[in-house]
Amino acid sequence: MEASPLKKLEQLEFSLDSVTDLSSPSASSSSSSPAVATFSRVDGVTELRFIRSDSTHCFTFDLASSQLFKLGTVQFICVSNDNNSEEESLSRGVNIKFGSEKDSKEFCDSFEEWRKDGLVRGSSTVSANKSKFDDKIEASSAKMYFHYYGQLLHQQNMLQDYVRTGTYYAAVMENRSDFAGRVVVDVGAGSGILSMFAAQAGAKHVYAVEASEMAEYARKLIAGNPLFADRITVIKGKVEDIELPEKADVLISEPMGTLLVNERMLESYVIARDRFMSPNGKMFPTVGRIHMAPFSDEFLFTEMANKALFWQQQNYYGVDLTPLFGSAHQGYFSQPVVDAFDPRLLVAPPMFHTIDFTQMKEEDFYEIDVPLKFTASMCTRVHGLACWFDVLFDGSTVQRWLTTAPGAPTTHWYQIRCVLAQPIYVMAGQEITGRLHLIAHSAQSYTIDLTLSAKMWGPGASQGGILQSSTCKFDLKEPYYRMSQPQAYPVAQEPPLPPQPQLNTQDIQIQNDEFEEELLQEPPQKASTQL
Ligand code: SAH
Repeated sequence: MEASPLKKLEQLEFSLDSVTDLSSPSASSSSSSPAVATFSRVDGVTELRFIRSDSTHCFTFDLASSQLFKLGTVQFICVSNDNNSEEESLSRGVNIKFGSEKDSKEFCDSFEEWRKDGLVRGSSTVSANKSKFDDKIEASSAKMYFHYYGQLLHQQNMLQDYVRTGTYYAAVMENRSDFAGRVVVDVGAGSGILSMFAAQAGAKHVYAVEASEMAEYARKLIAGNPLFADRITVIKGKVEDIELPEKADVLISEPMGTLLVNERMLESYVIARDRFMSPNGKMFPTVGRIHMAPFSDEFLFTEMANKALFWQQQNYYGVDLTPLFGSAHQGYFSQPVVDAFDPRLLVAPPMFHTIDFTQMKEEDFYEIDVPLKFTASMCTRVHGLACWFDVLFDGSTVQRWLTTAPGAPTTHWYQIRCVLAQPIYVMAGQEITGRLHLIAHSAQSYTIDLTLSAKMWGPGASQGGILQSSTCKFDLKEPYYRMSQPQAYPVAQEPPLPPQPQLNTQDIQIQNDEFEEELLQEPPQKASTQL
């Protein structure tokens, strides 16, 4: 028998000579492949999992509804009668065999111990902890969210964002000294890719915490990479709920959504910091910044306004649709637009709002208020606010930025634009003020209130009295994905952008006086190809 170092805590492992699935005729006759049995607690449920070392089979039993039957000194049948959960839950059993009588006895004792403990815990401690996530997030949202991340295709989508994954890899490898010999927690491990980066950089041990069904795939993937497998433990559960046997020196995570904060996973990241990280630990990434700038895009504005025109028909098969025109128009203008846009559409130098992951409290994410102030670089019509983000990996050796800026290599986050139903007019040099107000909601996203204002040009403005102001409300959960549009920005043909002193290599410099000229000369290609 091999007991893992987690014995007294949340996990206990035993080596088996073999495990055979009783419910599968083909498996019953099959090999006696060695296996590992693991007792663990997942979301307050005490589980017993059997994984064959050839990774061909994995059986998970809820201990509360399982029984052990002794067949001989080293042989048992484990049967589960759980009929409540889906798929795997039907009554099923496995035949297990131990290498020695001592092992089989210890397993038998542990089975009873964990089963009793699970029955007690299931109704008390863990369920109290669970509420941290469950209290603020609607069950239906969480269900869809973890279902989404439980699918390999969505993990693949993120893995194939080479800007994203490559920057993480570089940030870890360039800062090996932060990982070598250290205990790491991968917060929301997904496929386990970041855990394996940390292990490659020499981590002593990585706890890969993943709440969705992806945890099973991560186990399989990690098991298939023997160089790391013995240094990574996958723990299925929410970071809000699970326990770890030791404090971590490093937290690594990819919790960013569109506009940085969408999906509300940054809250889980800082909860993990407070629960698992030792006082001088490092966080990869360390800080994030939301960048914002007003933009002008007549083509996008017309495209959105045109969508609602359908409801202007007074004789649609004899029906007057106009009573719903206003609602439809408002509906379209409440959707933030997600696409990669040409940075020449920006009409003022951007500003940013910093979010320090090492300092933010979970509650600080519930409401984020950003006062806005820009100076227009040209005379134009402002159609709204463009936003993107970057994050910094503040390693001891290298500081690396991952940016999603317009004009930089496109990521799966693209950029986001909040389009005002009522644009505002500005002159070059004119001040644009406003407010971006984000209010978290229980569907793991935010309601966005945006106001942009500019002093009216003309008599009265110099006395400071007259403002043109435009306000819109958006739901970050309901974006308009516009990525299928032809990508106009010809990155390769652009002149090299000069370096920006306070930023790192991937950030871009916006040269506003140049845009003005270009914008006046010809409309951006992207827009013209859409019509
Ligand atoms: N780290 C992976 C996956 C990032 S996507 C990668 O970089 O490729 C974010 C992952 O975090 C998803 O798989 C999601 O299921 C998981 N996740 C989100 N909130 C979580 C929480 N509170 N506890 C545990 N996992 C969480």
